[in-house]
Amino acid sequence: MASMIFTDPSSAAAVHHLPFTRFSNGLNPLRRFVGPLHVFSPTPTLPRILSVRSPRSSRFVIASMAIESSAKVIDGKAVAKQIREEISAKVLKLKEAIGVVPGLAVILVGDRKDSATYVRNKKKACESVGINSFEVHLPDDASEEEVLKFISDYNGDPSVHGILVQLPLPSHMNEQNILNAVTIEKDVDGFHPLNIGRLAMRGREPLFVPCTPKGCIELLHRYGVDIKGKRAVVIGRSNIVGMPAALLLQREDATVTIVHSRTKNPEEITRQADIIISAVGQPNMVRGSWIKPGAVIIDVGINPVEDASSPRGYRLVGDVCYEEACKIAEAVTPVPGGVGPMTIAMLLSNTLNSAKRAYNIKIETLRNRVKDSDEAGSLLALL
Ligand code: NAP
Repeated sequence: MASMIFTDPSSAAAVHHLPFTRFSNGLNPLRRFVGPLHVFSPTPTLPRILSVRSPRSSRFVIASMAIESSAKVIDGKAVAKQIREEISAKVLKLKEAIGVVPGLAVILVGDRKDSATYVRNKKKACESVGINSFEVHLPDDASEEEVLKFISDYNGDPSVHGILVQLPLPSHMNEQNILNAVTIEKDVDGFHPLNIGRLAMRGREPLFVPCTPKGCIELLHRYGVDIKGKRAVVIGRSNIVGMPAALLLQREDATVTIVHSRTKNPEEITRQADIIISAVGQPNMVRGSWIKPGAVIIDVGINPVEDASSPRGYRLVGDVCYEEACKIAEAVTPVPGGVGPMTIAMLLSNTLNSAKRAYNIKIETLRNRVKDSDEAGSLLALL
């Protein structure tokens, strides 16, 4: 969550916005209906001017031919919208049933503009689905103790179901101490060592899964990409994306290889993958030659590159060279508009699940205490 940029998709020009219907690499067709995709009309194909030899004459003629790229767009923006609508309906149901409104608390330290933007976006996203948001903004020179005090207060506040510390923190603070202070029951970012440890262990369930990798897997699920038994390569091994993404793929029975900055032959290894998740932070690093025909690609990277034609002077690209990937892969996420919108949708989902879990615990306590009371009866009826 440290370096998220939330932007609108704009680069999905050369491919279809359609759910999968078949997979040439043996991946299964759509397992679940991908609801929002029907609202998109196919993006116009890119017409390319080609020189072709006329069959009736030896002259070269210039013909405008529409050449379609083979890859489908994995449209994270559309899927995230659908997920947010689902969350919104569930939040309303929870509120109407028992008056519980999920709450997310965000702690921001310092004056980084990007961090302030991310916090604002999270707040807006909460509002849009009916989740309460709480925010504390401390100055850059705040002490670690002050931050820990707010975490402790939120840990004990029953109206707060998720606590998120916006990263990066100022350099005088110990990030580990601070993240460890968030109670595991409210660790909606999923960064607590206990949550990561459970994610890594067979037969153990984490209370929360980090939002960005969770969003990557959710995209694969919603597009019906079969993961079991497939070869997956995760490029990048950060605590917040690459490492948990690899653990998640392994939990889904993929055979996973991690590529990192010291990997000797990244291109050769990546070319073996049926599924590629790239979280590196290097613009266009993964070229067409790295991709096995028919692979499915989830591009987490968000990299600004200079672009004089853009009003901002830059545009965002992924780790994967999108134009080349579109010609080789079965499906690919655009940047922006792929994984980015999913991250925040997963944060909302984690917060809702946390509220539901807290509510279930309350019910269990009641069940044990007062088996026949009216209150327990009405709560139990909602289970
Ligand atoms: P990070 O902490 O900097 O980690 C980058 C990883 O990439 C490291 O494991 C590093 O290897 C590896 N790496 C760097 N150069 C490499 C190379 N040339 N070849 C192979 N591996 C290389 O970054 P992060 O936080 O995971 O973020 C990665 C990207 O995802 C960034 O562009 C970030 O903006 C983006 N992101 C997007 C979202 C979203 O919501 N879409 C969320 C989070 C991050 P070593 O471990 O060996 O150093």
